[in-house]
Parts: sequence; C-alpha cells; structure tokens
Amino acid sequence: MRKIAALFIVLILFTSTSYAQCQKQRVSLQVLGSGGPELNDKRASSSYLVWLDGKAVVMIDAGGGSSYNFEKSGANFNDIKAVAFTHFHVDHSADFSEYIKYSYFSSRKEDLLVYGPAGNTVMPSATEFVNALFKKDGAYPYLNNNINLKSNNPYHIKTTDVSLEKKRSEFKLNKDIALTAVPVHHGPLAAVAWRVDLVGCAITFSGDMSNKYNSLAGLAMNSDILVAHNAVPEITNRFALNLHMPPSEIGKIANNAKVKKLVLSHRMNRTLGKEDETLGYISKSYAGAVKFSNDLDEYSL
Ligand SMILES: [Zn+2]
Repeated sequence: MRKIAALFIVLILFTSTSYAQCQKQRVSLQVLGSGGPELNDKRASSSYLVWLDGKAVVMIDAGGGSSYNFEKSGANFNDIKAVAFTHFHVDHSADFSEYIKYSYFSSRKEDLLVYGPAGNTVMPSATEFVNALFKKDGAYPYLNNNINLKSNNPYHIKTTDVSLEKKRSEFKLNKDIALTAVPVHHGPLAAVAWRVDLVGCAITFSGDMSNKYNSLAGLAMNSDILVAHNAVPEITNRFALNLHMPPSEIGKIANNAKVKKLVLSHRMNRTLGKEDETLGYISKSYAGAVKFSNDLDEYSL
C-alpha cells in the first residue's frame, strides 16, 4: 500500500513539475512569412513554424509565398502535426493547398490536424474552408485522392472549428504540445489568436486583430514569445484600427502579459520604415526585447 502511495506521489510530481521550466534548448520559433497581403512588401504572407527537438511540429497560418520559405527552412511537412489558422483571409491561408499537394510525393501517414475559427456571416469555418478546397465539388477535387483515398499512404485531414462563443478553447496534441485559442476582434471577420504550449515553453500568436475584445493579454500571459502583427502605424484611420492594433496597444498587451520577447510581424508598407516610431510607442509600456521579423528569421526562447 505504501509503495502504491509513493508511486502515486511520484506520478503527481512528474506530471505537475516535469515541464515547470521552459526547456528552451528544445524549442524555437521560425517566421516563414513576415508580410501582409501586399505584393510589393518583398515578404511572404503570414506563416510561422514552431520547432521542437529539431522538427517543425506546428504551423500557424499558411499565407501566400510561405510554402517556398518552408522549403528553405528545411522543415519536413510529415512532421507537422497541426496547422492552426487565425482566420481565412488570403494572406493567412492561400498556400495551404501546396502542402496537401506535396503529400502526393511524400510518405505521410499521420492524420493532419487543422484548426481554425468557426464561421460567421462573412467567413467560412475551418471545415467549410477545407471542404471548399478539396471535396468533390471544391476548387481542387483531384487532391481529395491524395488525402483520403490513396491506397499506399493515406491520411486524413481532421478539421476542428474553434468556437467564437467560448472564451478559451484548448486542444492537446500529445503529452508535450497543447494549443489554446481565444476569439479576437478583426473587424467583421471570424478570427482567433493562438498559444502553443510545449515542454514548459509558450509562444503566442496574435494573428490579425484590433484589441476590442481585450482577449490577447490573458492568452499570452507569461509567454516566452508573443508574435504581434504590426500592420498599422500609430496614426491611422478608423477603418484600419477596426482591423488592427496600433503599436501603443501592442506595447500595453506585451506588458500586461509579461511576455519575455516581442516579435513584430505582418509588416506592411504602412509600417515598414517606421520602426523607430513603432519602438517608441511600444517602449512607453513594454520594457522587454522587441524584434522586427523578416522571412526565415528563427528565434530561440
Ligand atoms: Zn493579414
């Protein structure tokens, strides 16, 4: 009996403290696309990889041009367990089909988990988005065979629509990796922000958002890295501010969430060249490290 009790205590200790500290050397963040939707920002559109033990395991968004940077990164799509979309604007999702087509030439057997927001009146849900691409009456019906029917190495896309009603949705991928989403305000769009927790570390991705729901700081609390989208300058019009957060807001969120490092991405012509000004507004609230990202930049924790 005493032995069983001791074992139970060890088990509790192991599960509760095994990743009490971030195992930094095992994790990194890589930017595949540091731009927005413009064709003249000299950047791929929004996409990120989270690396664990030398393998890219989670992809956040798959904007146009990012799949070419995926090639350059040396990542293997067969290692990607989940693709988590913040929303289904073109600059966050246009390259997704590239990866599915690649499956024809690969030996992937593991199901691919795809997460994205539930739909609303102006946007499809994650399931509707995937079906609109690959089902028989979709844009690329020929790829349906690659993912579902190919006899020698089939796999399935398992799609999950993230509730826009729940304050927070959590998805455990395995014993090491968990994803958490919260709804964020991006004009009339259905949109979420993502947090990836793995081996005691946390990386949070704002996606595109204004901060009208005030939900990002809670999600990002104590993250090792917050990737925030620097899509608009401080002084801009109300239409842009209904979609995106200005630098001062990013600084407040980073400070409130006590994040260790702030990576700015989704850089656009209206913010490129204004880095000093942007830093000035952010540093009024946030004293930590701030990095302006470029394609293929990799950040340790
Ligand atoms: Zn965008």
